[in-house]
Amino acid sequence: VLPGAQPLDTSGGITPKKKAVKLPVLAVIGRPNVGKSTIVNRLCRTMSTEPDAIVYDYEGVTRDRIYRKAEWNGRVFEVVDTGGLIFDEDQDNLFAPQIREQALLALEESVAAILVVDGQVGVTTLDEEVAKFLRLQKNKPIFVAVNKCETPNMGEAMASMFWKLGLGEPFPVSGLHGTGVAEMLERMLPHIYEVEEAEREEAIKVAIVGRPNVGKSSLLNRLYGKERAIVSDVAGTTRDAVDALVEVNGKSYRFIDTAGIRRRKKVEYGNEFLMVNRALKAVRRADVVLLVVDVVEGINDQDKILAQRIAEDGRACVIVANKWDAVEKDDRTFNEAVVYVKEELFAVSWADVLFTSALTGQRCHKIFDAIDKASAAHRQRVKTSILNEVLGEALVWQRPPTVKSSQQGRVYYCNQVATEPPSVVVFCNNPKLFPDSYKRYLDRKFRESLDLTGTPIRWYFRGKK
Ligand code: GDP
Ligand code: GDP
Repeated sequence: VLPGAQPLDTSGGITPKKKAVKLPVLAVIGRPNVGKSTIVNRLCRTMSTEPDAIVYDYEGVTRDRIYRKAEWNGRVFEVVDTGGLIFDEDQDNLFAPQIREQALLALEESVAAILVVDGQVGVTTLDEEVAKFLRLQKNKPIFVAVNKCETPNMGEAMASMFWKLGLGEPFPVSGLHGTGVAEMLERMLPHIYEVEEAEREEAIKVAIVGRPNVGKSSLLNRLYGKERAIVSDVAGTTRDAVDALVEVNGKSYRFIDTAGIRRRKKVEYGNEFLMVNRALKAVRRADVVLLVVDVVEGINDQDKILAQRIAEDGRACVIVANKWDAVEKDDRTFNEAVVYVKEELFAVSWADVLFTSALTGQRCHKIFDAIDKASAAHRQRVKTSILNEVLGEALVWQRPPTVKSSQQGRVYYCNQVATEPPSVVVFCNNPKLFPDSYKRYLDRKFRESLDLTGTPIRWYFRGKK
């Protein structure tokens, strides 16, 4: 046992010797007495039907830490309490090399970490030190759980003190009562899921959606084209949903639910609800959505609803304006068409528009480049310094409006807290002082300066308390 170690309760623990499937690991960190064990117990108790305290022995690595299995929304992961290994208040030298090494080891194998702090005590020097250490762990999503926030209506205020740790949005929770834990997990799990998914497969997941008859299956055939290597059809997650894995220029793309696109032919227009439902399911599984519209028929409400869902679900998007061959054109047609499509599909106006013909193949090959670009934007992590430079510039060009003459919106700084899609928290004096028009202005400014074509950006305005 390492110096300062506080092993978890291992009663009833079993040690299967067989090699287990490696699950994503979530590290729980924090100084003593903030409630780490309470939180770990809650994560594992409320979310798992498995017996507590399973100790895994992975090939080649003997680990003396206790890993406990947890489950949330069907995702299984492991939780490890590293806190006791790292920080001990009695210890003068907090970061003795071998202690730091242990912390690093635990963190290294985790896909994300929770820093637990005590909301009733407030920010301590030790919290700040741990936070400083965690900020150095680049590319590792860190979530701040402000524990002991069970007092009704006080949680947000208590948690907001911990913004200053510089680790993004603090979540008010109560390990004892269980409040707030679900909300935090909800935000955290996509990160765990993403990493796990990325390790398993590098293919960009693409959904092709659109109303009947816009040309989805014709397009799919084009994207499959003979020049492409069709790797395989892969059975998807739902029964008879078949994904197609396609390789282009050494990159792979997984087209989601291609059966749903092809099948329609036989079903005819039968059940529209089921079809829309199927499309929305595909959207949810995708990284990038190809929204196919028919430029001859024009854009209608169904197209707009799909666009809205893509944006709400935070997916990247490429608009494919199909049947371009069937449009009579003069030298203004193209520009007018761009304006028309962007205005009608304003929910995804940040997406690239490609005017294609699935019939002749015109510009269909450009779809892959557009997918790559949208996917890169979707995954982009912008340096905080650059983000704030852009913010500063935007504020100079146009100041937040003055409401009721006495109050002016003030922005302090911003921070990207997540990717897929990029999510930015803006710290300000009072979120109410920022109307939607100003938020749209900021969105536009950020897009002009940073390469974010093809992805929505999520904005969170947070007030100082
Ligand atoms: P650890 O040392 O960080 O693992 O902390 P523990 O989980 O052992 O908890 C330390 C103390 O804080 C215990 O007395 C817990 O009962 C208490 N505690 C844990 N969670 C909460 C909470 O949500 N609210 C309150 N009021 N106390 C809590
Ligand atoms: P889906 O219902 O969205 O899968 O659409 P289909 O791919 O089945 O196409 C519907 C109809 O539109 C078929 O008759 C296609 O031949 C036709 N079509 C598809 N793409 C184009 C295109 O780019 N130009 C023209 N002129 N017709 C197209």
